[in-house]
Amino acid sequence: MEEIASLLAANGAYAEARAHVADARPGRHLAIVTCMDARIDVFAALGLHLGEAHVLRNAGGRVTEDVLRSLALSSHVLGVRTVVVMQHTKCGLAGVTDNELRERTGADLGFFPIDDHGAALREDVDTLIATDFLHPIQTIAGLVYDVESGVLEDVVRWQRSLGQATSAS
Ligand SMILES: [Zn+2]
Repeated sequence: MEEIASLLAANGAYAEARAHVADARPGRHLAIVTCMDARIDVFAALGLHLGEAHVLRNAGGRVTEDVLRSLALSSHVLGVRTVVVMQHTKCGLAGVTDNELRERTGADLGFFPIDDHGAALREDVDTLIATDFLHPIQTIAGLVYDVESGVLEDVVRWQRSLGQATSAS
């Protein structure tokens, strides 16, 4: 409860000083799918400002059904044309298995564990490409963020006009 009080107190100061963005459509027509990891400051790491991008976060930064649901709205209702999937080093979902995570959590779920970032990003980009209702999306990139150096690795790119996904480097 102390934590909640601290959040409400901080909000008092924020509300007075905040930047107000009237338009709900992301100004850069951009959505970022990334991990919930507390070490990633998505806006700072990518040079983004309030109002410029949708940020969809979950464990691992994986393309799940719920990410597809959000992107359906991002792309059809709110003008998003570019999607960046950003995984990261030292991720809690890397190097573990679904079975281990089911055992640790007691939750009988698919956790989308990551064996290899390159393969996982390609899989997620392929899922986006193969999702028919996401046809407004023109450009997709898969990146890995290094939580120690802050440096991004450019792993996979796809452009609707060109068709196939390609390795970035
Ligand atoms: Zn993570």
